[in-house]
Amino acid sequence: MSDMKITIQSSEYGETPFDRAKLISWWSQDVVSSSSVLVVGAGAIGNETLKNLALLGVGKMFVCDMDTISVSNLSRTVLFGKDDVGKNKAEVAAKGALRMSNNPDCHIDYFVGDIVNGLGHGVFRRFDIVLGCLDNMLTRANVNRRCCLFQKPYLDAGISGLGLSLNAHRYPESSCLECGMDSNDVARERMIRYSCDAFKKRAIQEGHAATVLVSTAIVSALQVQEAIKALHQLNGIALEVPVRYGQKYYYQGMNNLFEQMTVPIKEDCDAHFTIDKVIETPLSSNDTLKEALTTLKGLFGYDCLIDTYPDSAFVTKAKCVSCHKEIAVNRPMGEIYSDELYCPDCQKSDANGYTPEYTAIDIFSSDIPHDYLMDYKLERLGVPPLHVLTVREKGNDDNIKYIELTGDLNRVLPNTFERGSYA
Ligand SMILES: [Zn+2]
Ligand SMILES: [Zn+2]
Repeated sequence: MSDMKITIQSSEYGETPFDRAKLISWWSQDVVSSSSVLVVGAGAIGNETLKNLALLGVGKMFVCDMDTISVSNLSRTVLFGKDDVGKNKAEVAAKGALRMSNNPDCHIDYFVGDIVNGLGHGVFRRFDIVLGCLDNMLTRANVNRRCCLFQKPYLDAGISGLGLSLNAHRYPESSCLECGMDSNDVARERMIRYSCDAFKKRAIQEGHAATVLVSTAIVSALQVQEAIKALHQLNGIALEVPVRYGQKYYYQGMNNLFEQMTVPIKEDCDAHFTIDKVIETPLSSNDTLKEALTTLKGLFGYDCLIDTYPDSAFVTKAKCVSCHKEIAVNRPMGEIYSDELYCPDCQKSDANGYTPEYTAIDIFSSDIPHDYLMDYKLERLGVPPLHVLTVREKGNDDNIKYIELTGDLNRVLPNTFERGSYA
């Protein structure tokens, strides 16, 4: 009864969940409530980060992860319960964050799958800020490049034992995450995950990071605090101390050492590419290549070639180096596992030391060598939904436009951004 009385009194005085935050001089709950945050990874750090964003009342969130929940997650994941073991992390985390939100107008979308190959640039383009809650460098590098494309702030969290780091970047205002990456480390990780032919290795022995909840809670708190400051800054609110990008914050819990380092801009960094203007179109990754080219000709009045960014290699066929038997493949490079290219006669695959010859073509940047590919849907050619494609005028390479498959908006962002121009 007494609890009930307190609640009634509180609402009579117009109290809201955010009253204490609003006592911070520069705090605007309107900014927080109307902001959109993309959270990449729904593991230990992602759980903490989503919990923090939900309790703070952030208005729009997107969460992506390809994994399912395991028992060992449960000691570090506030959004997962025992009954959730085996379910998709992204879905359970999104629903948990929505339940926990203090914002009655909170909207969350999620994606279950490999974001490198499965999620289009349009997602990165729409969200105000990107928070990395990842456990591997290759995905970090991919996310970083998409943040560079649209000049989005990227706050990347990492943990190891009682040590943690937060990298805050916003290219071209500052260095990007890859400016500070050791290229040898990236190459080493690439060798663990990909065969010599750049096909995916199955069942990689993931190095499980030694970690406990306290470290993830600290790095996530730091990440979300920087994000909230950055969101205010993006909305033109001056802070006492502005957010500085191009910084690496490092905390070692064993000896309570806190360090801050500046990551300088690396002039020859491969990630430094931005897109200034994106043209929204009714196209969808469910359209065939033929339909896409027809629509583009209708929009621009000239014949177009399409290429994707950054990698659009498509494997048409593979040939056994021993018996020269040819097999049709017709799948995007990024989706093929090394053991799938298998010679039925020699009974060998790439995974056990045998290397097939294969034909990979860039079907988008040249004339299409095989007519049958014109009838393939873009998605089957390796183009994810809501992607941004580079379109060139045929015969005039200098005339480049960036077009979005905006027709996929309702499918990819049904809750957060459903009312697009082509909805
Ligand atoms: Zn860079
Ligand atoms: Zn063979």
